[in-house]
Amino acid sequence: MATKVDKQALEAVNEVRAAGVEWASLPVAERARRLREAGRLILAESDALARVVTAETGKPLAESYSSEVLGVADLFAYWCKHGPVHLEPRKGLVPALDMPGKKARVERMPRGVVACISPWNYPVAIPMRTLVPALLGGNGVVLKPSEFTPRSGAWLVERLRASLGPIVALVEGDGKAGAALIKARPDMVVFTGSTATGTKVAVACAKRGIACEQELGGKDCAIVLDDADIDRAAAGVAWGILTNAGQNCAGIERVAVHGRVAERFQEALIDRLRKAATHVPGLVTDGQRAIVARHVAAAVEAGGVVLTGGVPDGDEPIPPTLLGSVPRDCKAWREESFGPVAVLVAAGSDEELVRLANDSEYGLGASIWSKDIRRAERLSRKLNTGMVWINNHSFTGALPDLPWVGVGASGSGITNSPEALLHMTRPRLVVVDTSNAIEPWWYPYGDKMLGLMRAAVERQRSGGLGATFEALKALRLRNKELRS
Ligand code: NAD
Repeated sequence: MATKVDKQALEAVNEVRAAGVEWASLPVAERARRLREAGRLILAESDALARVVTAETGKPLAESYSSEVLGVADLFAYWCKHGPVHLEPRKGLVPALDMPGKKARVERMPRGVVACISPWNYPVAIPMRTLVPALLGGNGVVLKPSEFTPRSGAWLVERLRASLGPIVALVEGDGKAGAALIKARPDMVVFTGSTATGTKVAVACAKRGIACEQELGGKDCAIVLDDADIDRAAAGVAWGILTNAGQNCAGIERVAVHGRVAERFQEALIDRLRKAATHVPGLVTDGQRAIVARHVAAAVEAGGVVLTGGVPDGDEPIPPTLLGSVPRDCKAWREESFGPVAVLVAAGSDEELVRLANDSEYGLGASIWSKDIRRAERLSRKLNTGMVWINNHSFTGALPDLPWVGVGASGSGITNSPEALLHMTRPRLVVVDTSNAIEPWWYPYGDKMLGLMRAAVERQRSGGLGATFEALKALRLRNKELRS
């Protein structure tokens, strides 16, 4: 029986689908114009937006600006300027000699209704990086924000609807609301969240034939080579571990350092982590804090050492924490912790460092820190991740031209970049035939048809003049047969 939340989800999908008819029929330049205006109105209230994010996530206001609001400004500017060119039809190649008089083009069509199911860690940046290109592509969007950060999502949808009308809608609630939204049969689901939920979402979409993009968890590794600028690498790795209090899918949770500089790097990293402690707020949910606490406790139980930090009793925020000597079957090494915690490990060769980084089911991002860019580039080709940063980490999540993409348990979805826009639209082939020939591959079949096919294959195989001549001869015979 349909529940209240099922009905709400269905209403939202139906409303957006109805509004989508007119929206999709607008020229892309007009959609870009309206989106630019919507962006301008949202950014006029950027302080209010940053405060909503800070109020429900506890991020410092500066970080709400740097990782959420600023990204929104970039998104509107980028997509409205560069998006339309990726939506232009392209000419399809049809061999003029074999198939004369035919023209083909491939158009980009909207998918229809895109359901965007979002997590709580970046409650504005993550949904917006789907919303803006999806709308530009002619789709409508139903947003289901996380139940832990509902106000940011509601704020965005309210503003977008005020500017653009009911081409955007909101479905609020927990996982049941997300499941109901999929049951309401949108045309595409862009899911960002944990690997466990992503698996359920993929199954629900597959059952209904719904296209599904999956941006899932991560367990990023930073590789520090023996020629790295140790101070800079320590500062960058500390930020990669701690940004958003570690609640970042591409947060650094493993650090693999070359044995020759391990001691020096460990000292520098601990120093940076301790100094950053005042900028690291508590985790957004108690459940997440409990997961991090369990990972740290189990690592210590298995022989791991707390090099700095540790989980305090009670509900005080977890300070920046670095663990050493952690066995690799521990959760702290294998599973996503999603907190301000990382495991440090040393190894004696580049190959061993790469093996350590690849020792994970996840494959979102990795970084290599070295002054020798060619050496780092060589190693980067061996990493099994969707993104590799050399001498930096994860800062590209807010850059709309660059794909955010993973492999393995991190999901194979793409957000940001022209590649993501291609996924949010579908190709439609249109062919116009102006020839008046009876085609040589039409009925009746017989010896002449077979002779033509063999000659055509031989022409492709050898590419020689003789084979071309034979193919033309076979075509003439076949045409004569068809006209008689
Ligand atoms: P989550 O999987 O618990 O929830 C994500 C969303 O899915 C929420 O809106 C939730 O209500 C909804 N949901 C839950 N069950 C559902 C169901 N059965 N059907 C449909 N929707 C359902 O994730 P979270 O805890 O909110 O976010 C943290 C996770 O997100 C981490 O694993 C993190 O790595 C990942 N993440 C990935 C990326 C990326 O780009 N790869 C970015 C940010 C976060």
